[in-house]
This record gives sequence, C-alpha cells and structure tokens, in this order.
Amino acid sequence: MIRKNSAPKAVSKLRGQKSSSGTLISSPSQTLRSVDRVLPAHPTLEGEGFLVHRPFPAPGMLHLDPFLMLDEMGPAVLPPGEAKGAPNHPHRGFETVTYLLEGEAEHHDSQGNHGVLRPGDVQWMTAGRGVIHSEMPSEKFQREGGRMHGFQLWVNLPRVDKMMKARYQEIPSKKIPEVVLAGGLARAKVIAGAVGDGVSVIETRVPIQYVDFDLQEGAEIRQPAPQNHTAFAYVYEGQGSFGADAAGQELRVERGHLVLFAHDGDLISARATGPEGLRFLLLSGQPIGEPIAQFGPFVMNTQAELEQAFWDFQSGHFL
Ligand code: MN
Repeated sequence: MIRKNSAPKAVSKLRGQKSSSGTLISSPSQTLRSVDRVLPAHPTLEGEGFLVHRPFPAPGMLHLDPFLMLDEMGPAVLPPGEAKGAPNHPHRGFETVTYLLEGEAEHHDSQGNHGVLRPGDVQWMTAGRGVIHSEMPSEKFQREGGRMHGFQLWVNLPRVDKMMKARYQEIPSKKIPEVVLAGGLARAKVIAGAVGDGVSVIETRVPIQYVDFDLQEGAEIRQPAPQNHTAFAYVYEGQGSFGADAAGQELRVERGHLVLFAHDGDLISARATGPEGLRFLLLSGQPIGEPIAQFGPFVMNTQAELEQAFWDFQSGHFL
C-alpha cells in the first residue's frame, strides 16, 4: 500500500508554542532548517518475506540524492524458526549500509567474505562493480527467535566510483563513538560524520553523516548539516518535534515517519516531546547530481550501463 506523500494524521502543526530551538542559535552563522515535508513509512515485505517499513522510495519521492532507499527492518518479534532473510542476490553501483538494533544477522558473499552483525554493529558495503551476497538471520537467531530491528540504507555512488572494487567496512558497536548531549539527557551514536568531538571511523565516498540519536523527554539537540546537503530524520521510537519556522511553529512527528528538511539553514534541531522519549536516525549527504538508471539491485547512470550490469551478472562476472 502506497499512500500520497502528504502529511499523515500523526503529524500536527503546533501553533503558538514557542520552541527554545527557535530562539537559541549556536552561532551567528548558523540557521535552523525548517521541515519541507513528512513522509510515512510503508510496511512491505522484502527478501523471503520479512517485514520492513520503507519511507522511500515511494511515488513522488524516488530518491533523496545521494540516498536511494531506507528500510527499517521490523521491529518484529519472531518465534523460533520463523526468521527470514535475503538469500543470494547481486548489487552493483552503490552502497548498502546495515545497522542492527536488535537480533543477529549473517552475511556471505561471492568473494568469500563472511560476518555476523550483532546489536549496535554496522556493515558499510560498497558494492562497486559487483557482489553477490546473502543477508540472513544467524543460525542462533533462527533457532531461538527473538526481536529483530534494524536498518538498511542504500547510498548511491558517483559515476567515478560505480565500478570500484567491492569493499566492506565492518564496524563493531564498540568502535562507534557515542556522544552524550543535552546535559546527559541525549546520546548520539556516530556511524558516519561527526558529532562534537565524536568522529566516525567509517570512510564514505561522498560526504555523509549518519547519526543515531536517543533523547529523553524534553531533551533537545542541534546538529550541523550543510545547507546544500540533503538532510532527513527517520523517527523509529517515541515522538518529537523538528525544525521551527519564523513563527516558532514546530512539527510534531511520531514513529514510522521521515522528516525531510528544507534547504533554508545549516542546523538541524529536534526535541523529544513525549514520556517515551525520541529515537531517530539523522542522515545528511552531499547530492551527487547525476542521472540515475536503476533496475532493482543495479544502480547506474545510463541504460547501457544497466544492460552491461545484467550481462555481467548473467555471465558470471560478479563472481
Ligand atoms: Mn543485499
């Protein structure tokens, strides 16, 4: 089910409520970005049939350059033997970024790579010229069942990098910097980019920041995001308000929604408004600005390159 990209019921303009985020500016050169629109995530099935919530691509919002897709995997509680994954499939021309909150996932690929992701771990895979891989629940998780929750983000590659050699960056939870903010009421896990003096260990092909924020009720954060960069927040737990316009209006957003920021400032603001707090991913990135030719797991610049990708895959050149 795909709905129109209009503001859903869960979102309401709060009139007349002055936000502190509208009045406190970190430095004279920084301006808060307002909210362009809010996109609901649509439940859909992926791979062998596991539940994902997908804010984009959707009709009218195919890409958020440089980002091609965001899937929230679950959240789902799976009985023993019920967990499903994505068996062998190819990718070319972009990157897949997997971040697990709960559960356990295992991957194998055509080049002999193998790894297990546990809660808090990140796998940043640059498919480049091609890989064939499987992404499955681990044997232990398959046997025991449990809660599965995580994210897969697809990041496009610029033309110059589309045919680079495939590369993995596997980062265990303990290597992801965690920064305490808002006087101890907020935490940020820095997957890519930097928050304060917390700097990610991941190398990205285009400038990107990827931060997992966890705010307690009333906490507020500010995070720089260059004005020309695409920037969005995906709320996966609780509720909060984002941005603020000149009249001090805020947009209140609940879990399962993506908040796309306008290009009218260089600072993101978010505040937890409910007793259950607010957890969201903040993504921002420099747009690549090149044509996109996509068919499923192949993302190139031209139709001819897509056809070449099919030919290379069919004739075993991904192996
Ligand atoms: Mn994959």
